[in-house]
Amino acid sequence: MHNLIIWLNNLLRGNRKKKFAPADVLVMFSHCLQNSDCPQKIIKDLAECKRCGKCVVKDVLELSERYKVQCSVASGGQMALAKCTSGTVKAIVAIACEKELSAGIKGIYPKPVIAVPNTRPYGPCKDCLVDIGELEKSVRDMVGDAV
Ligand code: SF4
Repeated sequence: MHNLIIWLNNLLRGNRKKKFAPADVLVMFSHCLQNSDCPQKIIKDLAECKRCGKCVVKDVLELSERYKVQCSVASGGQMALAKCTSGTVKAIVAIACEKELSAGIKGIYPKPVIAVPNTRPYGPCKDCLVDIGELEKSVRDMVGDAV
């Protein structure tokens, strides 16, 4: 069911031509992308990331900077929802597991969301990964040729 909601949401978003200013777009990712041995308190402040490359957080931050979009991390669904419903955010590219994404799509509606499911080679909520190419394509779908 979660996969169906994500597939339908992304299909509908893909058919819409509306683009957003990069500053209005938020890349939101779940905390489980951070390397589980990393001591940096990125939940408190993303600038805490030393960009050592041991996890994909470095890539997500660099991509967000390159496209000049907002970037934020959340430790759970409620925190993510609070950030996504902020008035400074008009569109979201969200990275999380399918369950969190489908709940987020419903919670954030009618704000547009592109959902990018993470992958979990080490099991749920631990050292998760994301396809950076897919993330970049999703950001480009939101900002168009603005960058
Ligand atoms: S890139 Fe390095 S410093 Fe940044 S969150 Fe990942 S492990 Fe920590």
